[in-house]
Amino acid sequence: MEYSKKQVGDLVGFELEIYQFGQGDGPKLMVTAGVHGGEVTGIHAARRLIEFLQENESQLKGQVKILPVCNQGAYRRMQRSNPYDEIDMNRIFPGKMGSKPTLATAALVYEEAAWPDYLVDLHCCGLYGSNYTLATWMDSEGDKELASMLDIPVVIKSGGTAGQLFVESSQKRNIPSVIIELSGGQPTGQIDLDSADIAYQALLKLMKKLGMLPGEVEPFEPAFCLPLERVVAIEDGLFLPQIEKGTWVEKGQVIGSLNGKPISVEQDCRVMNIGPARYLFRGDYLYVYTVRA
Ligand SMILES: [Zn+2]
Repeated sequence: MEYSKKQVGDLVGFELEIYQFGQGDGPKLMVTAGVHGGEVTGIHAARRLIEFLQENESQLKGQVKILPVCNQGAYRRMQRSNPYDEIDMNRIFPGKMGSKPTLATAALVYEEAAWPDYLVDLHCCGLYGSNYTLATWMDSEGDKELASMLDIPVVIKSGGTAGQLFVESSQKRNIPSVIIELSGGQPTGQIDLDSADIAYQALLKLMKKLGMLPGEVEPFEPAFCLPLERVVAIEDGLFLPQIEKGTWVEKGQVIGSLNGKPISVEQDCRVMNIGPARYLFRGDYLYVYTVRA
């Protein structure tokens, strides 16, 4: 294993930890986490993968590079952006050296990310969100193939917003690249241990499917789905959910109630985020869903 720390300028808290495993021929996989500093389920999954590879490097064919905390300043505050400049790092790739701290850090991350055959960027979708892969799967065969090799139940179509690490990497460098969005993270840096384990296992299976680790894996087919949609409350009141996040439901099925009146879904879908019982105001979200493409 090679471990290095790169300093961004002379600012405190702007370091990039880089772990590199394996050498020689074979696929090259890069895993990034903590581009949004508070999204710690992803950071935890990356750290578990580092531990695994520290103990099992001799089995590895190919190379793995892991950046567990891409945005150190934001991580120290357990928040999305670095308090020095409040710039969202995942909107400004490829970044810019010698510029504001977040831009400079992004440039360093992007330089490291020129290297792999596959890129997986780990994020969080909040405590009440359920896990999914985010990919421009309709536009890129490579991204679709990578998403299909991850044992994450749902692949959501990304709008391909420029400036995101995985979008720039896929579109500008033609490197198959996806995000895994994991439960936890927001609002204040909670690790969802089960989701971290799901991501960790998915990355190990990906490496087996790529021939980077020994062992067979069960086939798995994720559901390829359209972008997330939100349904909002049409009046103030008490919302009581009746299903769990991450549940497939059929058209007409009741998923909760608002002021005692049933709320049903208008089409077959998977409810990705529904939240706990709560008082809502008109316009607040009730639930977030996706439909199969
Ligand atoms: Zn994020």
